[in-house]
Amino acid sequence: MKTITVTTLQRMMIHVADEIIANESYLTEVDTVIGDGDHGIGMKRGFQALKNMLEKTAFDTVDFLLKAVGIELVKTMGGASGVIFGTMFIGGLNKLSPSDTISLDELAAYFDEGVSAIKRRGKAKAGEKTMLDALIPAVESLKQSAEEQSDMQDALEKAYTMAEGGVEASKSMKSRVGRSKNFQDATLGLPDPGAISTSLIFKALFEGVNA
Ligand code: ADP
Ligand code: MG
Repeated sequence: MKTITVTTLQRMMIHVADEIIANESYLTEVDTVIGDGDHGIGMKRGFQALKNMLEKTAFDTVDFLLKAVGIELVKTMGGASGVIFGTMFIGGLNKLSPSDTISLDELAAYFDEGVSAIKRRGKAKAGEKTMLDALIPAVESLKQSAEEQSDMQDALEKAYTMAEGGVEASKSMKSRVGRSKNFQDATLGLPDPGAISTSLIFKALFEGVNA
């Protein structure tokens, strides 16, 4: 498979919403130790609203779908992560031309621009124990797969594996941004909650592409 249709992508995003909703308590548990314990709650609120919206709306083009995804998250989630995860879906929209399909090249460029937008917005860099530590490896992997003209599903599986690697790597990072920076050494050994959410997003995109 070389491209994804807007219909498939919409179904994949519902899959993503289900995955986040199912992991609410795990995400909150991790944030309780290293943050203020609201990450799962905010993510569930946002992705439940997203699921409701996606189930009753039809989209003709991929850029309209992804714009609506980002807006719904910003509107309903609140907190630092509302802006951050909203920006993940809104930041790269300028890389998409209006079309009812998306190629791996476009998907990689879209998420890559999303990473840049998150960095501009939140002023975090790689290695500071944020969702970027899962997102950056996932997106670098997507770009590599696009260069190799890989199959879409293989590319998404690799991106998910890299995101999971980022979650593991975040355990040994010290937090410098967001609320968890107040915990510094106490955050050592635990993964970043936002990084876990990011790997769940890529897991569901991969699993949803052929579901
Ligand atoms: P809050 O920090 O407002 O309580 P959440 O608990 O929902 O928000 O989300 C925390 C997550 O948001 C962190 O685990 C981290 O991954 C992500 N995050 C926070 N600040 C930033 C930032 N400046 N850049 C990137 N990600 C961030
Ligand atoms: Mg929090």
